[in-house]
Amino acid sequence: MRVRNKPWADSYIKAHGDYIVIDPKNWLGKWQTRFIKPQPLNVEVGTGKGRFIIEMAKAHPEINYIGVELQKSVIATALRSFMADPLPNLQFVLTDGANLDEIFLADEIQRLFLNFSDPWPKKRHAKRRLTSPKFLQTYQRVLSADGQIEFKTDNRGLFEYTLVTMNNFPLRFDYVSLDLHHSPENEANIETEYEQKFSPNGPIYKLIAHFTA
Ligand code: SAM
Repeated sequence: MRVRNKPWADSYIKAHGDYIVIDPKNWLGKWQTRFIKPQPLNVEVGTGKGRFIIEMAKAHPEINYIGVELQKSVIATALRSFMADPLPNLQFVLTDGANLDEIFLADEIQRLFLNFSDPWPKKRHAKRRLTSPKFLQTYQRVLSADGQIEFKTDNRGLFEYTLVTMNNFPLRFDYVSLDLHHSPENEANIETEYEQKFSPNGPIYKLIAHFTA
């Protein structure tokens, strides 16, 4: 997703350092100190404009959430929505999800969300997909033994790619849907910005999986 540069983003991020981290490697092993109390940690990679993670944090005050996003202008927009009604159990991190194992300890994360990740359809860009083998290896390290990955997309090609790459890992599928919005589980579904925009065009695919080693 390409986004227009937002001139206000830099100063806005600097002014709200209590809720956003721009030097995540310095917080290795210390994430829980950024919340009012230590609780299970759930992370979304590619959080976009933040609707999903903000609504999740509202719905689950018993969990601490971190939204990771690569683009400054995008995360600044998420932060601005969040600042309308800040929550003590949500933090944002401006970084590349590829660095996850440099900023989180092994087994530190209980649940990892990937929502409508960029499909990178060209083969030469496959490594950038958030469910490529390199990323899965990283998730395997930072997820706790009973941790899960939840992945949603409207892109059938990316979903099939993800099933195949995951199948090459010691991993079990706990849930797979080829049409989330017409399944009973949709009642508890919190929609992302992309989901709201693209679900009228076709099905939403979802899987939940956990590593077995
Ligand atoms: N999850 C949001 C949603 O469903 O509305 C945004 C989806 S958007 C298509 C994908 C987002 O992932 C973009 O904001 C992009 O900047 C971010 N992204 C892509 N690669 C990333 C990476 N390696 N680390 C962190 N964020 C990434």
